[in-house]
Amino acid sequence: MKSLRQTNLEHVKLVVVKLGSAVLTDNGHLEFSFFKRFASEIAELRRQGYRFIVVTSGAVAAGLEALGFKAPPLTIPEKQACAAVGQLRLMRQYEQEFATHGQVVAQVLLTADDIRNRRRYLNARNTLTALLGAEVLPLVNENDTVVVREIKFGDNDNLAALLTSLAEVDLLLMLTDLDGVYNCDPKAAGEASLIPMIDEVDDGVTAFVCATKSAVGTGGMLSKLEAARKAAAYGIPTVIANGRRPGVMGRVLAGESEGTFFLPRTNRLNCRQHWLAFAVNPCGSLYLDGGAVRALVDRGTSLLPSGVSRVEGGFGVGDPVSCRDLKGREIARGLVTYSALDIEKIAGLHSREIAGRLGYDAGAEVIHRDNLALL
Ligand code: GLU
Repeated sequence: MKSLRQTNLEHVKLVVVKLGSAVLTDNGHLEFSFFKRFASEIAELRRQGYRFIVVTSGAVAAGLEALGFKAPPLTIPEKQACAAVGQLRLMRQYEQEFATHGQVVAQVLLTADDIRNRRRYLNARNTLTALLGAEVLPLVNENDTVVVREIKFGDNDNLAALLTSLAEVDLLLMLTDLDGVYNCDPKAAGEASLIPMIDEVDDGVTAFVCATKSAVGTGGMLSKLEAARKAAAYGIPTVIANGRRPGVMGRVLAGESEGTFFLPRTNRLNCRQHWLAFAVNPCGSLYLDGGAVRALVDRGTSLLPSGVSRVEGGFGVGDPVSCRDLKGREIARGLVTYSALDIEKIAGLHSREIAGRLGYDAGAEVIHRDNLALL
């Protein structure tokens, strides 16, 4: 009988593979043998019919030496300078190794702003579709030159998670220097055991999983769990496995018990809802009464003015906002039909009273269900 993992992986065709800096560098140098092996494994899997988008870190690490840094630089501009130098070296390495397999590669640099902006999001999607259509292997990294901490994706784990819906992939495969998710720090304690499968990334899971971070990467295990949660919300399984083990990708795709497997959600968000839930930054919050929370969560309805108790923040028509229960827990995100000022005026009213109160009526809903994503 097939395992749950095998059933979830048997239809996989397009995969986002995320490579952390720890997998492809050693002591601040790009590890050439890794690139050679990676290119040959990807080439073989492509012959078997799989297609890939690679999200690759390693630009900062690859630039360290060239700029004369012994340890990772501290200032953000120094890191950006390292990334600008290192990105070239990184791409050159991929290009060289993939060329020996006749595989053309492309560099795709993105920022969180590009994904937040619906038009640029769609442009990025069209470009990726065209690259895949031309049998090119896209190599994606964050455009480090133009972003600082506050406006970053956070890390490439998050970028990879957002690509699941942007590029409509079937699997998120995150390769790191650990064998998967452990119940405590495997590098510190001898007792740590690998967790083969995680049904759902909830607070319970994040609380007992250790937050180990490698010295060169930026994400750590918590950001990988968060990425797996985002992929699961789009109905996509995730595997976290050790990228330093030869043949790991092939074994994962064959459904073998390699690394940690994360089950996808069955009540998945659609592409637009996934973008709404995870790519946009809310401009304010609407606090909903118990009845409205139940209607949204249990019945998937639109949000009506009668369910709104309080408005927070200044936002305009079409802006993204958080929907919260009265305890402040965020339950959904959506795009509003009315401005913050107008929602304050109609909060608690029946929809048929909108025109009388505002002098116009843009619809019965404060947020239409098509513009709403449950978290
Ligand atoms: N963009 C960074 C780099 O290429 C890495 C960010 C990350 O590791 O998440 O070095």
